[in-house]
Amino acid sequence: MSSTHPSPAPASRVLVLNSGSSSVKYQLLDMRDERRLAAGLVERIGEQTSRLKHSPLHSGGESRERTGPIADHEAALKAVAEELAADGLGLDSPELAAIGHRVVHGGKHFTAPTVIDDTVLAEIERLIPVAPLHNPANLTGIRTARALRPDLPQVAVFDTAFHTTMPEAAARYAIDVETADEHRIRRYGFHGTSHAYVSRATAKLLGKDPSEVNVIVLHLGNGASASAVRGGRCVDTSMGLTPLEGLVMGTRSGDMDPAVIFHLMRVGGMSADEIDALLNKKSGLIGLCGDNDMREIRRRIDEGDEQAQLAFDIYIHRLKKYIGAYYAVLGRVDAIAFTAGVGENAAPVREAAVAGLEELGLAIDGELNAVRADEPRLISPEYARVAVAVVPTDEELEIATQTYALVAKKS
Ligand code: AMP
Repeated sequence: MSSTHPSPAPASRVLVLNSGSSSVKYQLLDMRDERRLAAGLVERIGEQTSRLKHSPLHSGGESRERTGPIADHEAALKAVAEELAADGLGLDSPELAAIGHRVVHGGKHFTAPTVIDDTVLAEIERLIPVAPLHNPANLTGIRTARALRPDLPQVAVFDTAFHTTMPEAAARYAIDVETADEHRIRRYGFHGTSHAYVSRATAKLLGKDPSEVNVIVLHLGNGASASAVRGGRCVDTSMGLTPLEGLVMGTRSGDMDPAVIFHLMRVGGMSADEIDALLNKKSGLIGLCGDNDMREIRRRIDEGDEQAQLAFDIYIHRLKKYIGAYYAVLGRVDAIAFTAGVGENAAPVREAAVAGLEELGLAIDGELNAVRADEPRLISPEYARVAVAVVPTDEELEIATQTYALVAKKS
């Protein structure tokens, strides 16, 4: 007797996990239409005051919150699995095709998303010395998810992968080669999933194939980085061995003379850990003016606060230098794309970053710049030679897309 049952729909859901040291962010997407089914965040893992916020997006239902101690990542993922199950979206569903993990550091080795096996886990572990804050947390997330669904493909999507196309001239520091190689010191770059997504989306906005356009992407969030993308491939980026290099950020200094560190050690009597904390957590905008939120900084500037104004000016000065540098690296620029929290929302930052660069073909239309929207949009006047765009980033969608492409190819 022939079966009248239709064959089951191929699994099309991807769970994206972004595991930090004390947090897990997640989204469940259906890749048939890129619809978000659920999203949430577990914060303060390991503390008494842990919090899980879960939004069942597929049903448009109210967000739910759990508070109280969540001991570790395993408990956090179990709680997430329970919330998803309560919405009929459990991790045991046959519709779940894969779990995509954000992994911050993939070194030189991982140039593309990779299905995780024991060898891949060992390699991510080997990279801990160059990503001591991030890779251990990412690994914990992967191990916990694997324990929950050992049969399911788990994919690592690396923040560094998009930047592995950088030529050696851009990726190497001018230090002794043997020392650099022994300690794997080179410029890796980060925010790669965002730079990949935004550079492609910018080409689409221009009605072109990514291979046809040169784009400078300015990812300006609390962490911030710039990239120069030629024909869809990254040729330079502002973060380096770690996310500390480059632009002025919310709490990171970005570029400075490395001798500042020796000075702080010798004259300031500070330890390596103290300087690490100073430059990563107490510098940038927060170090300069006590605030790292651009909204607050703009509010203070409007009230005539000179310290906030100086912090803003230093931030813009550095940003402009990178626009100029990447213009020179690319030779021809078709578009500059602003993205992430500051880039998508702070019109004064966009205006100031591009001001005075008319000779480079850059200009902004004040009215277009003031528009608030969730869609990618152009903010340059029609006459401008270089398009200036605001392109909301979507790292979760990019991770899900890369994960799904890999598992769909394999099945
Ligand atoms: P992200 O790391 O991409 O989430 O960006 C976070 C940062 O974006 C915050 O620290 C703020 O500085 C900035 N931000 C978010 N919303 C706005 C807004 N409406 N106007 C200006 N800056 C904003």
